[in-house]
Amino acid sequence: MSCSQTIDDPEKLHHDALVADMHNDTVLRIVEEDFDISERDTSGHVDLLRLKEGGVDLQVFACYMDPDTAASERKKTIDIMIDSLETQIGRNRDKIAICRTAAEAENIIGSSRIAAFLAIENGLAIENNLENLDHFYNRGVRYMTLTHVKSSDWCISSADTVPAFNGLTDFGREVVKRMNELGMIIDISHASPAAVEEILKASRDPVIASHSCVYALCDHDRNLTDEQIKAIAANGGVIGINFYEGYLSQEFKDLDEAYENEHKAEIDSVEKLYKGTDNWTEEKRKLYAPLTAQVIKLDINTATVVDHIDHIVKLVGPDHVGLGSDYDGVHRIPEGLDDCSMLPNITRELTSRGYSAQDIRKILGENFMRVFRQVCDK
Ligand SMILES: [Zn+2]
Repeated sequence: MSCSQTIDDPEKLHHDALVADMHNDTVLRIVEEDFDISERDTSGHVDLLRLKEGGVDLQVFACYMDPDTAASERKKTIDIMIDSLETQIGRNRDKIAICRTAAEAENIIGSSRIAAFLAIENGLAIENNLENLDHFYNRGVRYMTLTHVKSSDWCISSADTVPAFNGLTDFGREVVKRMNELGMIIDISHASPAAVEEILKASRDPVIASHSCVYALCDHDRNLTDEQIKAIAANGGVIGINFYEGYLSQEFKDLDEAYENEHKAEIDSVEKLYKGTDNWTEEKRKLYAPLTAQVIKLDINTATVVDHIDHIVKLVGPDHVGLGSDYDGVHRIPEGLDDCSMLPNITRELTSRGYSAQDIRKILGENFMRVFRQVCDK
């Protein structure tokens, strides 16, 4: 960050830079709400028009596997998600195209379109079968988050307080090896500390944490300790900072936990009644309204996100951090980053903190592109 020339126009720097968002859950909206990505729809965080306004050049679309999906339905569920995304992209060929390599992404971006990167969130999707990993690779999936909020037979989740084994099983190590062979990026977001350690030992390629924050700033189990951040940097990987307020702000996390403990019975019964129904969003909003009223006062904003970026840069330099919004996957987003069109605010904040144009470009997308190229273009 030394010797930086003053940046006159952060907005221009942002739009000229390659901007990559390493994680969103917009495919859920496409499948569950029949959402058309070409239409501006502010009930969610993302659509093609707002991606363009936000200067997004590469967008990772994660196909999320709910841990409670029946074992025999998992592969099929992800296939349906990929089909739906492909249909949407197919209808908007002049605006967006799927990239399978970093070189393809650069071509797509060079023709003023958005490069769509396919990912799977939750290794349960492969139904404990390496052939399914090959299947998804052949469909264009280029990263997989190994686990989610529930441990699988082969990888322990960060939310698991009574792990059945030490991070990864032998099959888990085979998954890592096969992903390395195929050229698929391993995503350690949601994995337990022991799993992260085992993955880093087993992987010969750099890994990513597609949507995780810094534990030193907010002690959520989803966040990465300084030791883990250093290990990911040593591995050549990159961490996409998540925009969810519950991972960004210690105050939010504490309030949220206290609220959920206090209202556990009520939350459980409303979930039982409404989860999976059309009324769920509205019922959930009502359920959490008192918490929302408290949280608004915390003033969580773009600077809070940049604090997490800053922490990583100070710890390991500017080469290992990026953006992993989790848009359309989380319900509380900092002020100033209310949707994907507002990403230039990150560049403004980095500029005001004295970051150089070169470092800002790395954070906005070049770091992710480096890992993408190294793993998937071989
Ligand atoms: Zn996630």
